[in-house]
Amino acid sequence: MPMYPYHCPKCDKDFDVEMRPTEVGKRTVECPSCHEKKVTRVYTGFFAKTSRKA
Ligand SMILES: [Zn+2]
Repeated sequence: MPMYPYHCPKCDKDFDVEMRPTEVGKRTVECPSCHEKKVTRVYTGFFAKTSRKA
């Protein structure tokens, strides 16, 4: 499954969330550090980086 980068504005921390492409934008993402739910998705390019080779 691809990893999507997110940024938490509350604790200023970047983290990756593993989810299916169809879940992006629908699933509630929570910061692993402070459990903030209003996190920002980081756009690094057209394709999301993957945790392993396809
Ligand atoms: Zn946070």
